[in-house]
This record gives sequence, C-alpha cells and structure tokens, in this order.
Amino acid sequence: MSRKADVLIVGGGVHGTSLGYQLLRREAGRVVIVEKSGVGAGATGWSASFIRHHYSNEICVRLVQESIKLLREIDRAAGREPHMTPKPLLVLVGEDHAKPLEENVAMHRRLGVRARVLTPEAVGKRFPYFDLTGIASAALEEDAGYGDAMRLSETYAGEIPRLGGEIVTGTEVVSILVREGHVQGVQTSEGPLEAEKVVLAAGAWSARLAETAEAPIPVTSTLLSVGLLDPPDPVGDTPMAFDMTTATYWRPYEDGRLLVGTDEEEGDWDPDGLPGAVGFDFLVHASERLARRWPRMADAHFVNGWAGVDAATPDLHPIIGEDPRVNGLYLDTGFSGHGYKFSPAVGRGLAELIVDGRYKTLDLTPFRLERFEENDVFRSRYAVSVMQ
Ligand SMILES: Cc1cc2nc3c(=O)[nH]c(=O)nc-3n(C[C@H](O)[C@H](O)[C@H](O)COP(=O)(O)OP(=O)(O)OC[C@H]3O[C@@H](n4cnc5c(N)ncnc54)[C@H](O)[C@@H]3O)c2cc1C
Repeated sequence: MSRKADVLIVGGGVHGTSLGYQLLRREAGRVVIVEKSGVGAGATGWSASFIRHHYSNEICVRLVQESIKLLREIDRAAGREPHMTPKPLLVLVGEDHAKPLEENVAMHRRLGVRARVLTPEAVGKRFPYFDLTGIASAALEEDAGYGDAMRLSETYAGEIPRLGGEIVTGTEVVSILVREGHVQGVQTSEGPLEAEKVVLAAGAWSARLAETAEAPIPVTSTLLSVGLLDPPDPVGDTPMAFDMTTATYWRPYEDGRLLVGTDEEEGDWDPDGLPGAVGFDFLVHASERLARRWPRMADAHFVNGWAGVDAATPDLHPIIGEDPRVNGLYLDTGFSGHGYKFSPAVGRGLAELIVDGRYKTLDLTPFRLERFEENDVFRSRYAVSVMQ
C-alpha cells in the first residue's frame, strides 16, 4: 500500500470508485481508494438499481441525465455491454399527489425528459392488469430503466489501476487526521497514510468517521429491504412502477422475476450488523401491497430478498462538497436510498471541484453541507419517502 496520496478516498462503493475514476481522468495525481471490505460491499452491493428522472428538484433530474450519458461512456471505455436496460416508469398517485405529479412532469419535460401525465383511464388501457382504485393521476417516463450498481462499481474499479490509481481492499480507515483545520491523511488498520485531500465516501459509516475529524455530519444509517417474487404469469411488458398510494415500487428482475420494495425502512441501523436475507414479514407486507394494485400477484411465490444499509440525511438528499470546517476534507455521502443513479455525474462534479477548484459541468453547490444550517434544504413535492 502507498504511504502517500494526493487524493485519498475512503470507501469503494459506487461513489468512491466513480470519483476515483473521474479524478484519474483529470490527472489528479496519486489517487488511492481505501476500502475496509471489498468493492461494492456496502449499499452498492444491495441496490435495486432503478434509474429514473422522476424527482421534485431540477438538479436531481439533471444529475440523472448526465449520469446516463456517462454510463454509456464508461461502458465504452471499459469495453462492456451497455449497462442500462431501458424500461418505462409508471408513477401512480392519489388525489393528494395529483398536482405535485403534474408539476414534476412539467419540469421534467422542460428539461427534455420524455415523460407525460396519463389519466387513470389511459393507464388502464395500456396496462389492463392493474387495479386502479384510488388512482387520480399517473406519470409515464419513457427515459427510465435499471442497471446494476455492483457491476458499475466493478467497472470503475477495473479502470482505476489501468489509469495509475490504487484500490486497497481489506484495510479500514480508523480515523481522519487533522491538524490546525487541515487534513493530513488517515490512520488505517495498516498504519498511517498521508494525503492533503481526503474524501469521505463511506456510505452509512460516514458519520462515525466524520466524528474522528471532529466535524460531525447529519448522517444516519437506514436499513432498506427489497424482495423477489416469482409471478404466476410472465410479467411481459410491465413497466417499472412507483405506487405512491401504497408506498410500494417494483420492477422486472432477472429470470422473469419481480423485484418489490416499500417505504418500510429502519433508521439508525448499525451498518456492521446486516441481517442478510429479509424477514418473512417484509415479503408478506410488500406482496400484499403489490397485490392491491396488481391482483394477479396475490398468487406470486416468494423467492428471497435482501437488505442493505445506506447513509441518510435529514432532507434525504446527499452531502457533496468540501467540508467548510476542515480544509481538504470532502464529503460524498448521504445518498439516502437513491444514490446509484447519480453516481457517474456526482463523481465527475466532485472531481472537477477537487482538481479545478470549481464545478464545471453541473453546479452541485445545492448539495453543500451548509444547507442544513442555512435552512436551505431540499424539499420534495411528495410526502412519501420512496420518491423525492
Ligand atoms: C435495498 C436497496 C435498494 C436501493 N435501490 C436503489 C435504486 O433503485 N436506485 C438508486 O439510485 N439507488 C438505490 N439504492 C441506494 C444506492 O445503492 C446507494 O445510495 C449507493 O450504492 C451508495 O453508494 P456509496 O458508495 O455512497 O456507499 P456504499 O456502497 O455503502 O459504500 C461505502 C463503502 O465504504 C466502505 N467503508 C465504510 N467504512 C470504511 C472505513 N472506515 N474504511 C474503509 N472503508 C470503509 C464500505 O465497506 C463500503 O464499501 C438502494 C440501496 C439499497 C440498500
């Protein structure tokens, strides 16, 4: 392991590896990623990997647009098959969310996303197998799809040594070393490592590491679960969907299966204590909610499911940028259950900030840490945590 880096990244998830790749493309010097386990071992390895533009804030939509372009680039550079499987996304809402949905779709269209509002009748015509009781309006986004967060982090990780960077796995960062307000490096389980710039991309573990720099951040850890079902009939052309009335989402998965998730999350979960498989109760609740909208799924069989822990912030949006209290400490964390789809563009933006001192392609200052003190936080048009 090197004893000195120009930029040291803590965490080899999809954000740490994306940033490492982008830094090396900008000739940021010696870039070292220190990962306590293996690449993608955190939330990245458990992601449902939806890619959608349906957000309430413009900057999130733009991040997804840029990320999709960058996904194509990295796949090409690494000689891999296209990463994203295109699939339309259906968002179903009741009366309470009809206006916010229409406002969101108007914004998405203005930004160039192929999305439109559908009446329940139009949804019923296109997808006759859904029970639309209680649905007042819907959005259909043609530019959505899904990918594979683990595969993406492995693709980035494969390129890093080729570009002259280093990924050190099986080594834990124990503390961030700071002297007189300036980062000096980190203490690892294998000894100290000097660096003038340290990036905290440690997902749900980020808050405890920030404490070691005496720079606490408003990040907690949340357990998120998804289940896999074996449908009674082939799911065919079913869209990916978010049903805001039941706070449930689903999408086609490999081998004709259906992946389903809900807003059932557990806060303050110890990220070192993953339950592995999801509980039977979760699968029962999730499939019951799904069957309310898609009655045929009452006959689906449970296959299995999994849970992962992601970092969460009070406004459920990430913290990106330099920590104003510690010179040279950068934050790339707090993705609150929806960070995979942003990872390519966030990596590029943060690499610009670190190398060039400013954001160049997309201004990511709305994600600064200071927003919490300034009360300039992100607000969602929806009151359901599955969709921001
Ligand atoms: C069940 C589930 C479903 C999801 N579905 C979606 C989705 O559909 N779409 C979407 O966009 N996002 C989704 N997400 C969220 C997305 O997966 C995460 O936001 C994203 O993977 C976070 O990446 P990260 O690199 O910030 O963190 P992580 O992947 O958690 O990576 C952090 C890394 O840091 C390492 N680390 C921690 N502490 C230390 C230390 N002290 N020293 C060294 N290394 C350390 C960890 O081992 C880990 O590998 C989902 C997440 C889950 C759990």
